[in-house]
Amino acid sequence: GQPHAPAETLAPHDVFIAVKTTRKFHRARLDLLLETWISRHKEMTFIFTDGDDEALARRTGHVVNTNCSAAHSRQALSCKMAVEFDHFIESGRKWFCHVDDDNYVNVRALLRLLASYPHTQDVYIGKPSLDRPIQATERVSENKMRPVHFWFATGGAGFCISRGLALKMSPWARGHFMSTAERIRLPDDCTIGYIVEALLGVPLIRSGLFHSHLENLQQVPASELHEQVTLSYGMFESKRNAIHMKGPFSVEADPSRFRSIHCHLYPDTPWCPHTAVF
Ligand code: UDP
Ligand code: MN
Repeated sequence: GQPHAPAETLAPHDVFIAVKTTRKFHRARLDLLLETWISRHKEMTFIFTDGDDEALARRTGHVVNTNCSAAHSRQALSCKMAVEFDHFIESGRKWFCHVDDDNYVNVRALLRLLASYPHTQDVYIGKPSLDRPIQATERVSENKMRPVHFWFATGGAGFCISRGLALKMSPWARGHFMSTAERIRLPDDCTIGYIVEALLGVPLIRSGLFHSHLENLQQVPASELHEQVTLSYGMFESKRNAIHMKGPFSVEADPSRFRSIHCHLYPDTPWCPHTAVF
């Protein structure tokens, strides 16, 4: 899965980044993203939520109310993924990336990564959720079941799919994602892996550049932040988990570390403390 020579140059309107959120996290999580990475990449970023919010709509035109249930159920989350996928297909863009609302996307690193693959080929890239393929039971028909196993990229670290692959996924995903998800009764990110690996036979490309809060984020060296594609924060083994970096903001003022990371990656940001260079 190492990227090869640059295959194409990418413009902001070539990439579709879907951010999954829910009404109760608009203030608690999404505002932080809008102040940091999304502020620099509004053209690429689309927010998929489950409730109207005028304050949010005023900050970005790219808000989609999925009308999915606000419950944290498998079906409600699959409903959002289904809407994300359909919007991507409609957009005509070259790349679909999905992230959660506790992800920081380092868009420059993301564009570098995607540009090293042709969007017309089959590309599914992210971080495997488990250290072995997931075992599932596929409902083939009303009374026929069979075991399937496949790798999938964990949604909490973000993943990307080329347009070429998304078009091949369409018979199972476009307008049919919910019923495909019911065939294996697993979460939305597993369903993506099921369609790509089990139904289409396209292997997941593993990348160590995508990070969720279900790994120890302290192990990501601050010196390598420029290369990382996604970062996260949250809980891991019942402890607070975040990137370890000194940065201009204290852990109390910036517990996610996203503001400090953003100032490191975009030092010209007006609210970043400056060492005067007049
Ligand atoms: N989420 C959602 N509806 C809910 C709860 C969560 O859409 O009822 C979204 C949330 O905004 C986030 C993702 O699902 O993008 C994962 O949620 P969270 O980080 O709270 O849980 P995790 O799975 O990481 O423990
Ligand atoms: Mn999370």
